[in-house]
Amino acid sequence: MKTILAAALAGLGAVALSSAALAQSKATVGIAMPTKSSARWIDDGNNIVKVLKERGYNTDLQYAEDDIPNQLSQIENMVTKGSKVLVIAAIDGTTLSDVLKQAKAKGITVIAYDRLIRDTPNLDYYATFDNFQVGVLQAQSIVDKLGLKDGKGPFNIELFGGSPDDNNAYFFYNGAMSVLQPYLDSGKLVVASGQKGMDKVATLRWDGATAQARMDNLLSAYYGNKRVDAVLSPYDGLSIGIISSLKGVGYGSGNQPMPIISGQDAEVPSVKAILRGDQYSTIFKDTRDLAKVTADMVDASLSGKEVKVNDTKTYNNGVKVVPAYLLKPVVVDKSNWEKVLIEGGYYKKSQVE
Ligand code: BGC
Repeated sequence: MKTILAAALAGLGAVALSSAALAQSKATVGIAMPTKSSARWIDDGNNIVKVLKERGYNTDLQYAEDDIPNQLSQIENMVTKGSKVLVIAAIDGTTLSDVLKQAKAKGITVIAYDRLIRDTPNLDYYATFDNFQVGVLQAQSIVDKLGLKDGKGPFNIELFGGSPDDNNAYFFYNGAMSVLQPYLDSGKLVVASGQKGMDKVATLRWDGATAQARMDNLLSAYYGNKRVDAVLSPYDGLSIGIISSLKGVGYGSGNQPMPIISGQDAEVPSVKAILRGDQYSTIFKDTRDLAKVTADMVDASLSGKEVKVNDTKTYNNGVKVVPAYLLKPVVVDKSNWEKVLIEGGYYKKSQVE
């Protein structure tokens, strides 16, 4: 079909081409998002819809509330109802092989959004941030604040990982460990619980309550007469749970300051926590930029142009290396939140103060 169309267009020349592009631009783009329980995904959904609508596309945006079968049936519906492109932020990146096979059979372009979709040849592109760098930045902010580079320490740290069914979680963890490992080796950082490795520290579905319960256990089992100096947390929603657990045993009051705690997504409650001094840093990933990169991919693939990517080696999904566009994450703390988040127009000052 595509070849016949291309052959016909080649005969008709540039004028016909641009009107074909116009017709294509009425196509529907199916957008599958994981959950509304975290503000970042709401921003992502809104931003993609906005950019795609501005460019003349129809959109079908669905949220699955972190329910895997729900997301699967939403995507099946998009395929049946004739979406020309699927943009998917998967809940579990390993469960979509069958539906993507159907999509490929219908000539649908599939873009993994933020999270890699694994174990399928039927994925065309990946739009995301430099996920390894996210982990590097999280760990660096802890290392800097503790003064490890100036020889301070030893300090106690506990490690938290993201959801084990999310490919990103491993990149965040490995990025962070690339910075922390030398200090663990030298004994300047000590994991008092001994719990290291994603098999021990992962947090299913990125659930804050799960992280809170694990922190409760760590505190009672290993910190009777010790102090936690830092917590590597990969996501703001986990940091919130970790903070409430710490507060429950008296951190953040009297002579027991909060540990240095990282995060990710610069969500409003966590920016507030940074301003209060409960959380130390977060990672800002501008969902406006991710939406734009994704819309560019949609546009280019529907109009037969070359899709712009800037990474063709990092993201092997178990079947193939997926061509990707990686954006830069930015660390945010008390020193730069205003410049990055407010002057950058992402939030209004009144939202966070
Ligand atoms: C995203 C993070 C987010 C996490 C939890 C990851 O896949 O890359 O930005 O914090 O999911 O929603």
